[in-house]
Amino acid sequence: MENVFPSSHPLVHHKLTRLRDQNTEPKKFRELIREIAALLAYEATIDLSTNPKQVTTPLATTIGSELLEKIGLVPILRAGLGMVEGVWDLMPTSEVWHIGLYRDEKTLKPVEYYNKLPVEPTVSVCLILDPMLATGGSAVATVDVLKRWGVKKIKFVGIIGAPEGIALMQAHHPEVPIYLAAIDERLNEVGYILPGLGDAGDRQFGTG
Ligand code: URA
Repeated sequence: MENVFPSSHPLVHHKLTRLRDQNTEPKKFRELIREIAALLAYEATIDLSTNPKQVTTPLATTIGSELLEKIGLVPILRAGLGMVEGVWDLMPTSEVWHIGLYRDEKTLKPVEYYNKLPVEPTVSVCLILDPMLATGGSAVATVDVLKRWGVKKIKFVGIIGAPEGIALMQAHHPEVPIYLAAIDERLNEVGYILPGLGDAGDRQFGTG
């Protein structure tokens, strides 16, 4: 699959296995979401642009580099919230922008209920964060919003993707790379990923 990057890192797979386990309690689950998010964000930012920058060490002056791009983190509510801290630790000057979407029961289409983006984009690259790329409806709608805002470089960082969600994203936004810990088998009849990990929101927030 082009533009889809399932991680091959052993640390990611070890942590993902613990995350899937039904006996992993919410505190550990939150830790794992945060750690996996950081590892995947590290992979997803491999192509960020940098400028050369001179630096003086205690011994000499040398040329290093500094990040050129202004990064925006866009968690999809609510399960994406747990991914923010891990990524923010790596990129502490990132801006975090929230976009709220819910699925209309009748049309099954995502409806925007929260969006405080200013008129002009304040970032040059956005990482959309959502642990579960299931049907893909929210991910597609979030990319739509960010493109309308004027962001040119958008990446999706998830933990588990279903083939159905990946296909929908690629049909609407083929240029948006998708970074995942794993691609699972399929969705069940109520839209949960199999084998998956259950409800990522409930398991983080203890609401299941
Ligand atoms: N959202 C979840 O939290 N889990 C799934 O399996 C699918 C969507």
